[in-house]
Amino acid sequence: MGAAKNILKEVFGYGEFRNQQEDIVNTIVSGKDALVLMPTGGGKSLCYQIPAMVRTGVGVVVSPLIALMQDQVSALKQLGVKAAYINSTLSASEEAMVKQQARSGELDMLYLSPERLVGEETQEFLQSIEVSLFAIDEAHCVSQWGHDFRKEYQKLSMLHQKFPGIPRIALTATADQKVRSEIIKELQLEDAEIYISSFDRPNITYSIEEQENGKQQLWRFIKDNHANDAGIVYCLSRRKVENVAEFLKSKGRKALPYHAGLSNRVRESNQQKFLMEDGVIIVATIAFGMGIDKPDVRFVAHFSMPKNIESYYQETGRAGRDGHPSNAWMAYNYQDVVMQRQFIKDSDAGDEHKTILHNKLDSLVDLCEQLECRRQTLLRYFEETLPEPCGNCDNCLNPPEKIDATKEAQMALSAAYRTEQQFGIMYLIDVLLGNDADERVVELKHNKLNVFGLGKEHVKTWWRRLYRQLISQAYLDVDSEFGSLKLTEKAKPILQGEESFYLRDVVKAKNKSKKAEEVDLGRHDIILWEALKKLRTDLASDQGVPPYVIFSDA
Ligand code: ADP
Ligand code: MG
Ligand code: ZN
Repeated sequence: MGAAKNILKEVFGYGEFRNQQEDIVNTIVSGKDALVLMPTGGGKSLCYQIPAMVRTGVGVVVSPLIALMQDQVSALKQLGVKAAYINSTLSASEEAMVKQQARSGELDMLYLSPERLVGEETQEFLQSIEVSLFAIDEAHCVSQWGHDFRKEYQKLSMLHQKFPGIPRIALTATADQKVRSEIIKELQLEDAEIYISSFDRPNITYSIEEQENGKQQLWRFIKDNHANDAGIVYCLSRRKVENVAEFLKSKGRKALPYHAGLSNRVRESNQQKFLMEDGVIIVATIAFGMGIDKPDVRFVAHFSMPKNIESYYQETGRAGRDGHPSNAWMAYNYQDVVMQRQFIKDSDAGDEHKTILHNKLDSLVDLCEQLECRRQTLLRYFEETLPEPCGNCDNCLNPPEKIDATKEAQMALSAAYRTEQQFGIMYLIDVLLGNDADERVVELKHNKLNVFGLGKEHVKTWWRRLYRQLISQAYLDVDSEFGSLKLTEKAKPILQGEESFYLRDVVKAKNKSKKAEEVDLGRHDIILWEALKKLRTDLASDQGVPPYVIFSDA
C-alpha cells in the first residue's frame, strides 16, 4: 500500500480517499502545483496534510483566520501529527520554540497567517529550513471579486519566485469563473494541475420561501423538521441575531448568538458549546462558520437573504458534512434585498465592481423566485450541468403555483431581437413601455418597431423580474462586456409559440403589507430603516425591487 493511503488509514482513520483526493495528493507528492476547487466539506485539508507528511520537510500552510488555524493544529496534534502555528497570538519565546522545532526537523506542518508569511523575517526563516510544500487555503481571499478579499494574499505570488521547485497547492470552495482565473493569475499557478470537483451536495434538500410571518415561520420549520438537531440560523444584523436566539430559547431550544459585537470569550464559548454539545442551534451573522468542522449540522436556515449565491452555497454547505440528509432552508424578504443593495451602494467598491455585485445579488433573487429545480439552478450558476431535476428540493417535491407569462416572454425576447440584440435590460424595458426619453428609443418608434409600447400593462420592475428569469433560465445571454442581451437557441420555441414560459405566482405577496415589527427594530436597524424609507422613491424607479415591496411607516 502506498505511503499516502497508509497515512489516510493509520493517522486519519479513513478507509478510502474521497473523489479526487488521491489524484491531488499524488500530484503534490510528485512535486507539481495544483489548484483545487472543491465544495465546503469536500475534504480539502487532507489534500495538503497528507503530502506534507509523505514528503520530507515542513509543509507550510497559509490560512486566513487564526481560529481556523488553531482548530486545525489542535485536531492534528490529537491525531499525533507534528503540527504548529505561528501567528500574533504567540509570545516571542513560543515563536522561537516553534522555529527551533522546524529547524531540527521535528515538524510536519506549520500554519502561518498570510501577514506572517509575506514578512521578510519569516521568509529568511523559511529559507533556512526544508519546506516540503506551500498550501494556500481559502485561496479566493486573493480575489478582489471574491467575498473575503485579503490584500496580503496577493503578495503570495512571491512564493513562486522565492521558492522555485517547492510545490504549491491553492484550495477554495469558490467556483466563480472570474475568481478562479484571478487565483491562477495572482498566485502564478499557470502550470498547476486544476481539479474541479462537482459542487453538488446531494444529501442537502434545498428549500426557499418568502417570509410571511417572520419568526413563526422559522420556528415551524425547525419544530417540524429538526426538533432535536444541531443547526445554524443566519441573520443579517446583530440585533436580529440576538432577537432570534432569544425567541428560540423561549421555545425551549438551546440557542446561542454569535456575532462580531460579542466578546471573544462569549463567541468562543458559544462556538465550543455548538461543537461539543448535542442539539445546539447557533444563531449567527456571517461572522460565523469559516472553517467550522461539525459533521452533523442537520440544517442551515437563512432568516435573511445572503448577498450572493456563492455566500449562500458556502453557508448552506456547512450542513450535512457527514453525508446524511440535511436541510438548507431560506425565508427571504424583499427588505433584505433592499438592504443588500444599500450595502453595495455604500461600499467603497468601484462602479464596475458594484455592477458585478448587483448582478450577483440578482442571480440570488432569481434563485429565490425560481420555479424549476433549485439544484439545477444552483449548479448551472457554477457552470455545472445536472441533466435531470433533482427530486430533492422544494420545487421538485412541491411544484409551486405559477402564472403563464408566455406572451410577455415573447415580447421581452422580441424586443431584444428587433433591436438587433445590441441593448441591455433597461433600454429594452423602455422600448416595451414606450418610454421615449432616450433618443435611440425615439428612433425605433419612428421606425414603427412593432414591440414599441407593447408592454404597458406591466410596470418596469415586473419586466426586470421577467428578464432576470429569462437570463437565469438561459433564454438570454448577457454580453459580459456591454450588458447587451442575446437570444439563445432555447428562445426559439418560445418565440414560435411551441413552448410556454411561467413565472412564480407572487399575487399573494402583492396584497400583503409587511409590518415594521417583523423587521425587529433595534437601534441599528432603525438607522437602516430610516435609510430605507429615504430610499423608497429611488426604489420605485429603478432598483429592481418588485412593486409589491410595501413599507409601512410605523
Ligand atoms: P473542506 O476544507 O473542503 O471544507 P475538510 O477538509 O474540513 O473540508 O473536510 C470535511 C470533513 O470531511 C472532515 O470532517 C474530514 O475529516 C472529512 N473527510 C475528509 N476526507 C475524508 C475521507 N477521505 N473519508 C472520510 N472523511 C473525510
Ligand atoms: Mg477547509
Ligand atoms: Zn430539485
